[in-house]
Amino acid sequence: MSELAPRRLRQLGELSVDQLRHVGQRRVAALRELDVESILDLLGYYPRRYVDRTRRVDVSELTIGDEAAVYGTVATVRARRTRQGRSMVEATIEDGAESLDVVFFNQAWRSRQLVVGAQVLLYGRVVEYRGRRQLTNPVVDVVVGASADERDAGRVGRIVPIYPALGKAGLTSWEMGGFVEESLRRAGPLLDPMPDWVLAENDLVSRTQAYRAIHRPAALEDAERARRRLAFDELVRLQLLLALRRRRLERESSGLVQRADVRDLDVGPGEVGGSLLRQFLAGHRFQLTGAQRRVLGDILADMASPVPMHRLLQGDVGSGKTVVALAAMMITVDHHRQAALMAPTEVLAEQHLASIRADLAGLRVADEAVLGGSRPLNVQLLSGRLRVAQRRSVLEQVARGEVDVVVGTHALLSEDVTFRELGLAVVDEQHRFGVEQRALLRAKGAQWSQLGAEPDLLVMTATPIPRTAAMVLFGDLEHSVLDELPPGRVPVTTAWAQTAADEARSWQRVRDEVALGHRAYVICPLVEESERVAAAGAVEEHARLSAGALEGLRVGLVHGQMASAAKEAVMQAFRTGELDVLVATVVIEVGVDVADATVIVIEDAWRFGLAQLHQLRGRVGRSDLVSFCYVFGAPPADDGRQRLEAFVACDDGFALAEIDLALRGEGTILGVRQRGRSDLRLASLTRDADVLAMAHHVAGRLVEADLRDQAALVDELRLFVGDEEAAYLFKS
Ligand code: ADP
Ligand code: MG
Repeated sequence: MSELAPRRLRQLGELSVDQLRHVGQRRVAALRELDVESILDLLGYYPRRYVDRTRRVDVSELTIGDEAAVYGTVATVRARRTRQGRSMVEATIEDGAESLDVVFFNQAWRSRQLVVGAQVLLYGRVVEYRGRRQLTNPVVDVVVGASADERDAGRVGRIVPIYPALGKAGLTSWEMGGFVEESLRRAGPLLDPMPDWVLAENDLVSRTQAYRAIHRPAALEDAERARRRLAFDELVRLQLLLALRRRRLERESSGLVQRADVRDLDVGPGEVGGSLLRQFLAGHRFQLTGAQRRVLGDILADMASPVPMHRLLQGDVGSGKTVVALAAMMITVDHHRQAALMAPTEVLAEQHLASIRADLAGLRVADEAVLGGSRPLNVQLLSGRLRVAQRRSVLEQVARGEVDVVVGTHALLSEDVTFRELGLAVVDEQHRFGVEQRALLRAKGAQWSQLGAEPDLLVMTATPIPRTAAMVLFGDLEHSVLDELPPGRVPVTTAWAQTAADEARSWQRVRDEVALGHRAYVICPLVEESERVAAAGAVEEHARLSAGALEGLRVGLVHGQMASAAKEAVMQAFRTGELDVLVATVVIEVGVDVADATVIVIEDAWRFGLAQLHQLRGRVGRSDLVSFCYVFGAPPADDGRQRLEAFVACDDGFALAEIDLALRGEGTILGVRQRGRSDLRLASLTRDADVLAMAHHVAGRLVEADLRDQAALVDELRLFVGDEEAAYLFKS
């Protein structure tokens, strides 16, 4: 490594760590345990935190009961066994004049880790034992080992970086710091792939500065500025890739031009004639909400354009996504094409079928083949549970184009399904499907469509994804939000029943509401083991309630182990009011729509995630009736308690999604995303929302201005995406 042109990350990725002076066979192996093989990996192994050694807590100031971080030198170490035969390691840590006792139980290896003379950082709760302050089983970071060559006093600065998870590799933060420092020194300046205007406009430090300061900051503020720049790099790479993918899709795919008259969206109730879209809206029970009207405007423009529509429609439960989807479907049927709606469960598909048939009843489609030139609009179900003959018959009708709207589960994606010409695919409750299914749908769509033109795609979700996460997860989709509920909705009264008396009052409420002619859901606990175990639990709960708290009411049961027809029969009985109460497992989590349902009781509610709880609550409050949601259960841990408290306090799905993100971190949200080098290591969707917005904006401008002038940046993107993806994104 000599003084040459500024280095690219790719070059650092080609240099093995064994080029470093103190890295031999043994340390190469140790570093490999941390997935660090190249100099690039090493520079990307960021400190977990920093200790400001001039501001550490004085041992003499520690108070009993505090959580404390203590920095000091190991003075003594002794291993022994307690009288009960447990292993015990006792050490003393010195900090200037003071010393502190540290005790580890059942961690015999600590006597090898804590060598006299080593400098360590300990985290733990201060307790008192025989009149002395003591830390028991604290978390340990060995910062500087004990051997002479590690105690180059000149190197330890005021701020010491602490690297994560070194214990398993048998390395110290000091050693890591040494490797990084040597790498940075010998690498010299790093090439900054960002144009100057990006750095200037966004107040970002240079890449060289950033890598230096994240590993060896002179002050904590420098580390934060460095982190911000490196987080920006992660996010801008991701946003660039999404923008490129979207542009590629737009260029590659020829879509269908499906125009509609925008005036049809404002048709008055009861007006007759005109396009199917117009007839559907005129005959619909409700006036569109402002949000529905606006989103339909977006969709109309998308469908009229030759670029295939890829739109994500987000709307809280009950915001009326189905009507929007149906209106879009009418546009495609107006063009003599077919529409498909894919739902995540059989129950939902069946419910959609029933409500869509009702909503579209009376509409007629022009058809030369039939006498009189028109026939009723035909809606069919394609689910995995159809009998063979029935399924074959539906498939044939679909292939011949005699079915206009096909409702189904992922059975729609199976090999033997062929459309005459699919014009629009709608995916309901998208979060229940994987990213792969969306890709498969796209691919199949093109195959199903005339001349390989891609059908328009609308994906809908009621899991309000925080805006930041949506930018990362669905950056290749356009984005509309239904941010308004239909008029007359009354917020659901939510309460957490924490005592037996509270629970009794909840059951009384169920009885009162039923007496008023309304209906109630009881959701059984979520069981991790299997749907079979969950079903057994629901059967038991159904029996218990029927003979106890809900005796005398007509109580039905539905769970995932029941045959489709049996399930549908129960749902139907509940819908029509032959049943008062429905005991269910989470099979009814999404989409079920019974307007007269006004109470929902959720047992062991802490087992559910916030988004799921909100979905469940969305089963009630679907009309202008006052509704109630009761959550039961005693959370065994703090996070469950925090979730329930937030749930009771907040009725807004988007706000809850933000809270969920803050409580659980992004891991769960990003879990579905492909893992790879482009992963977010430093960037946090909650903490760096502003950096993300910045990255999104910058990526848009760069792609628009054409990346061909940005060779270094393109080279770096290729490095981070892998060959196949790069070949696709950058082929000219
Ligand atoms: P979601 O967005 O949760 O899928 P739905 O499409 O099931 O919501 O709609 C929820 C309820 O609101 C349904 O009963 C539907 O008929 C009703 N609804 C939809 N749009 C309107 C509207 N514009 N005015 C009044 N009620 C509406
Ligand atoms: Mg829905």
